[in-house]
Amino acid sequence: MKKIFTTLSLSSLMFFGAFAQNTDNNQILKRKCGTPTYKEVEQAEAYEKWVQEAIRKDNQFANGKKTSTVYTIPVVFHIIHTGQAVGTSMNISQAQVNSQITVLNNDFRKLNTDFSTHVTQPGLASLAADVEINFCAAKVAPSGTVMAEPGIDRILCSSKGWTNPPHTMSYIEGTIKPNSSWDPTKYLNIWIVYMNDGTLGYAQFPTVPSASTPTIGDMAGAGGAANRDGVVFDYRYIGTTGTATAPYNKGRTAVHEIGHWLGLWHIWGDDGTSCSGTDYVTDTPNQADENYTCPTTNGAVRTDACTTTSPGVNYQNYMDYSDDKCMVMFTAGQKARMQACMQYCARRTSLATSTVCSVVSVEENMSNVNMEVYPNPTNGELYVDITTLDVQDFTISVVNTLGQTVKEVKQVQSNGGKIKIDLSDKNTGVYFVTVKSKSGSKVKRIVLQ
Ligand SMILES: [Zn+2]
Repeated sequence: MKKIFTTLSLSSLMFFGAFAQNTDNNQILKRKCGTPTYKEVEQAEAYEKWVQEAIRKDNQFANGKKTSTVYTIPVVFHIIHTGQAVGTSMNISQAQVNSQITVLNNDFRKLNTDFSTHVTQPGLASLAADVEINFCAAKVAPSGTVMAEPGIDRILCSSKGWTNPPHTMSYIEGTIKPNSSWDPTKYLNIWIVYMNDGTLGYAQFPTVPSASTPTIGDMAGAGGAANRDGVVFDYRYIGTTGTATAPYNKGRTAVHEIGHWLGLWHIWGDDGTSCSGTDYVTDTPNQADENYTCPTTNGAVRTDACTTTSPGVNYQNYMDYSDDKCMVMFTAGQKARMQACMQYCARRTSLATSTVCSVVSVEENMSNVNMEVYPNPTNGELYVDITTLDVQDFTISVVNTLGQTVKEVKQVQSNGGKIKIDLSDKNTGVYFVTVKSKSGSKVKRIVLQ
């Protein structure tokens, strides 16, 4: 839905909140955002002018055109706890973190298998897009050390002198974030906290640098502080296992909030029930208000006051308020905005070249070894070509974005050569191919299609 929006009031609010309200003792939860609107984000109007210009100027962002850029965003989960055993209560397990990363990689690549169950209307199905953004668990901490658990930074509250949870949003913004954030030009910071005020999660809106191209004026100061950049979730609404709580136990709160973090607004335009508001996306159907639960059980057409005919409103969109199980798609127009942000937004652009998901710090030790990996992207058959003057033992490992080794080949007293690796039985996505010897290691990133 795209309409011209003319009013703007500035405030210092730079985040979105997704709330769940406990309406009675039966713990009936209703997804709701507290401060989600265009009107409440500082310099939102300037951001809109910029992003629309970026999309218009650059053909690769035009709706309906496939972009050639596949981004990978390194993530770190700062898990704030009070001493519970790992995997208990707010000190969530590695498996729960991994389950969320898997959901992000499925949903942002349109690989989620529940899409066809909930989007049976051809007029909506044709809008759905592969956003071409992957996520990987960071393996290297800012200090340069290899992390004990990929993608995880566990923080005991008392070790930082913080009060025990539940934490308020202002405490998280003022104390927790600035004292635990990792370089946001290299990591997407994700905080896992205990809020207990009905908040599911919230995100900080992106920033456009004044020197960016295409530029339409000075955007300096837009967006929030660098040390508060990222997304926050209550520990009960993250991932698909462990403490994840229905109906928000399919990892879609994180997909929704990262959508905000990449510059998306709510699909209904935050305009009450009127049809005049907008999400500034050209291909999303106009929508009166947010949807809750799963409005239809079989993907049937759902109309409202703003879209009265088939294919109806896109209640299956990640930027609506539906339950996790029927939130299943982004549109091409939403993709164009997120791709533009990845290319130009401050602290987003640099994530694409961040190397923290692979252990590359010893690469210089392997200057006597050359490695080529091809074809890339591959459909499953991969060749690793190692050139070296020294006869030595090599281990070639293929590691997924969760840091798990999915294939390992050893070469004893070898001087390299071309080694074939079959990945045809692995899931599509991003992998890291590492060759290690006693003299060091080298890493290449590949995409399995
Ligand atoms: Zn939201």
